[in-house]
Amino acid sequence: MIIEPKIKGFICITAHPKGCAKNIENNIKYLSGNKKLEIGKIKNVLVIGCSAGYGLASAMAASFSMGAKVIGAALEKNAQKERGRTASAGMYNLAAYKKEADKRNLDLDIIIGDAFANKTKEKVCDIVNKNKIKIDLIVYSIASPIRIDPETGVRYNSVLKPIGKEYKSKGIDLTGFKLNETLIQPASEDEIKNTIKVMGGEDLELWVDVLAENNLLSENASVVSYSYIGPPVTHDIYLNGSVGAAKKHLKQTSDNLNKKYKIKSYVSVNKALVTQASAAIPVLPLYISLLFKVMKEKNIHEGCIEQAYRMFEKFRDAEESKDFNLTDEDGFIRLDDLEMREDVQKEVADRWEKVTDGNLGELADSDGYRKDFLNLFGFGPDGADYFGEVGEDEIEIDTKRLGIIEI
Ligand code: NAD
Repeated sequence: MIIEPKIKGFICITAHPKGCAKNIENNIKYLSGNKKLEIGKIKNVLVIGCSAGYGLASAMAASFSMGAKVIGAALEKNAQKERGRTASAGMYNLAAYKKEADKRNLDLDIIIGDAFANKTKEKVCDIVNKNKIKIDLIVYSIASPIRIDPETGVRYNSVLKPIGKEYKSKGIDLTGFKLNETLIQPASEDEIKNTIKVMGGEDLELWVDVLAENNLLSENASVVSYSYIGPPVTHDIYLNGSVGAAKKHLKQTSDNLNKKYKIKSYVSVNKALVTQASAAIPVLPLYISLLFKVMKEKNIHEGCIEQAYRMFEKFRDAEESKDFNLTDEDGFIRLDDLEMREDVQKEVADRWEKVTDGNLGELADSDGYRKDFLNLFGFGPDGADYFGEVGEDEIEIDTKRLGIIEI
C-alpha cells in the first residue's frame, strides 16, 4: 500500500509509519547529541498524553536523556484494514519509541487508553505497584476535544471560542495555505464550563488523588502540566477565551495540589509549536508561521524536543543549586522565554500588520509550518522513504508483540 496524506480541515486522517519512526529517530539523535541529564530525584516518570507533541517529547527526554523509567498513557488508534485506514500518527510514534527504548534496555510501559477513564488510572497504578516503584514526576500533557466524566458517564466537549465578545481575526486556511478571516461567536456559559471540564484541572487532580491514595507517589514528587500565554494577538481566542479559562482552572488546581499533598506541582508555559492540538486553534497557524520565521532568522527556534530537554535542564539546575528559580513570580515554569522576547514579539507584531497573500512566503515561514504539520503525521521527514510501498505488517501495529498495553 502507498500511503499519502489526506488532509481534512486541520487534521490529516492518514499517517505514515516510516515517517513517524524517522521523527522518533530524529528526537533520539537530538537527545543523544546533548549531555545526559542527571536528576537524582527523578527516576520514575508518568507521562499522561505521551504519544505526540509535548508529551511525547517529555517522555522521550526522560527516557533517552535521563534514563528514567517511563510509564506513558495516550489515546491512539490502530489501523483498520477493512476500512483502508492507517493507524494514527501517535500509534506509530509509540511503536517506534517502544522499539528504540527496548533496543537500549530502557524501561518503558505504554498504555493505550482514555486517560480520563478510571480503568486507565487503575492500570497505571497496577503497573507502578508491580514494579515496586513510586512516581517521582507526573507530566500531564493532554489536549483533547472531549472528556467523558468517569463517574457520571456524561460526555463534555471543549470549544475554542472567545469569551464575552465575538472574535474576528486573520488566519491561514491550512488546505490552500491562503490567508482567510475568522469570525467566531463568543462561548456560552455552558460551553465555558464544559471546556473547563475537559481541559481544566479536574482530571489532573483525579490522577494525583489516585496515585497518592495508593501510596504510589514519592515524597516531594513533582507534577508538571502544560499551558500557553502568547502575545496580545492571540489573547482573545486563547488566554482570555474558553481554553484560557480551562488553563486558569488547571493552574488553580495545580496550586491547590501543593497544599493538598506533599508534592511540587507546576504549570509550564511552553512555546507555540505545530502540533495536532495547536493546528485546531484559529489564528495560531498564522501566528506560528510568522513566529517561526523570526525565530529561525534569530537562530533561536526550538521544537517540542528542544523545549522538553530544556525543561528537564531546569529541573536539574534547581536540584543542583538552591539559588536557581524554577518558576517566575506567578509560579509558572517559563519555556516561552525566547518566544516572548521583546525583539521577537516586536518583529512578529510588525509582520502581522503587513502580511498578505502576496508576501506570506516572505514574511512567514509558511513552508516550515506546512512541513512541520505534515511531519506530525509522518509525511516528509528527511530521509524517510514514504513514497514506497508499506507492508501490511507495518501498517497495523502488533501491540502485543511490542508489549504495548491496550485498554
Ligand atoms: P498533541 O495534540 O500533540 O498531543 C496531545 C496528547 O494528548 C496525545 O498524546 C494524545 O494521545 C493525548 N490525548 C488526547 N486525549 C486523550 C485521552 N482522552 N486519553 C489519553 N490521551 C489523550 O498536543 P500538544 O500540543 O502537545 O498539547 C499538550 C499540552 O501542551 C496541552 O496541554 C497544550 O495546551 C499544551 N501546550 C501546547 C502548545 C502548542 O503550541 N502546541 C503550547 C503550549 C502548551
